[in-house]
Amino acid sequence: MNIPFFDLKAQHIQIKEEIDLAIKKVFDSGEFIAASAVKEFEQNFCKYYGTKYFVPVANGTDALYISLKVLGIGIGDEVITSACSWISTSSAISQTGAKPVFVDINKDFLIDEQQIESKITTKTKAIIPVHLYGKMADVETIRKICQKHNLHLIEDCAQAHLAEFDTKKAGLIGTTGAFSFFPTKNLGAYGHAGGITTQDENIYLKLKIFAQNGALIKHEHQIEGMNSTMDEIQGAILNTKLSFLDTWTNQRIDHAALYNTLLSDIKQLNCPKTSINTRDVFHLYVIDCERRNKLKFFLKQKGIETAIHYPCPLPFLEAYKYLNHSTKDFPIAISKQERILSLPLYPELTKEQIEYICLNIKEFYYN
Ligand SMILES: *Cc1c(COP(=O)(O)O)cnc(C)c1O
Repeated sequence: MNIPFFDLKAQHIQIKEEIDLAIKKVFDSGEFIAASAVKEFEQNFCKYYGTKYFVPVANGTDALYISLKVLGIGIGDEVITSACSWISTSSAISQTGAKPVFVDINKDFLIDEQQIESKITTKTKAIIPVHLYGKMADVETIRKICQKHNLHLIEDCAQAHLAEFDTKKAGLIGTTGAFSFFPTKNLGAYGHAGGITTQDENIYLKLKIFAQNGALIKHEHQIEGMNSTMDEIQGAILNTKLSFLDTWTNQRIDHAALYNTLLSDIKQLNCPKTSINTRDVFHLYVIDCERRNKLKFFLKQKGIETAIHYPCPLPFLEAYKYLNHSTKDFPIAISKQERILSLPLYPELTKEQIEYICLNIKEFYYN
């Protein structure tokens, strides 16, 4: 059996006819950037997701950057975020001129909310929790910290479409929520795309203006913004795919539950823990295991492709050498670095494929 880590073709085959129609409509319209399809996606996303406002942008990195810029964050400021994420979370902070301040993770790979307050200084302007792997950070505690210290809360929701914490959806608690629709994300375009949620009309207008070269009306540039609008083709595709998101999310959750059941008795590994007050949407299914590299190699021999998210915590990347961090600063992130392994997880994965993967993991540890 050959099991790829992602299988975007399997999803495309299911919806090919609808996608073909949607794309043809765009081609025939002669409008290619931020026109009727993107407008329709903006409206549909608001209704579907339950957000008051939504600004479609070019990608998830821009969604973070534009949020920070609109909230006035820049040179001399500090923004607190998690030591474990994709680099966009921290590079968006640096691109504004502000300094990323990293906090270690907890056992669920999420920012350790207990350590946040000790990192707050007079320069701190915002906190960006990352809902990593599709599990929400403790936004209730973080929201209270933000309130107490008068900080903005920007949620990195790139991996957490439809995730919930105490029935509150990812992206609806923060001042803004930054979403990515990169092809492999839980809701994926056929190219780059992203979006920003907010519940504040004033911030919505500012986000929109910033993303449209500083103009709400063409040629009336109020500020210098950036060129970060969404392509019509991506808007049309996302519109088509949006109605499937709930079904696909439930399939991800079911697959994760099956993995958890089949792997639960293996002492050499820990499965992701779910809790009753959260809805985890499993963008990734990451186990914490012994002899990770050997297991990865063994599974590869069996035709099972796995991945590592992420091989190096952000503070130890070459890009952040200037911050001079030592491994003692992030003990949990460091202890997990050699133990994390992402197993294939996507809606189209079959029960037989998951059983095959788990059988081989058992064979690796028991023989
Ligand atoms: C994918 C991702 C981003 C960036 O999204 P792009 O659309 O690729 O720019 C930001 N943060 C996290 C956690 C991500 O996984």
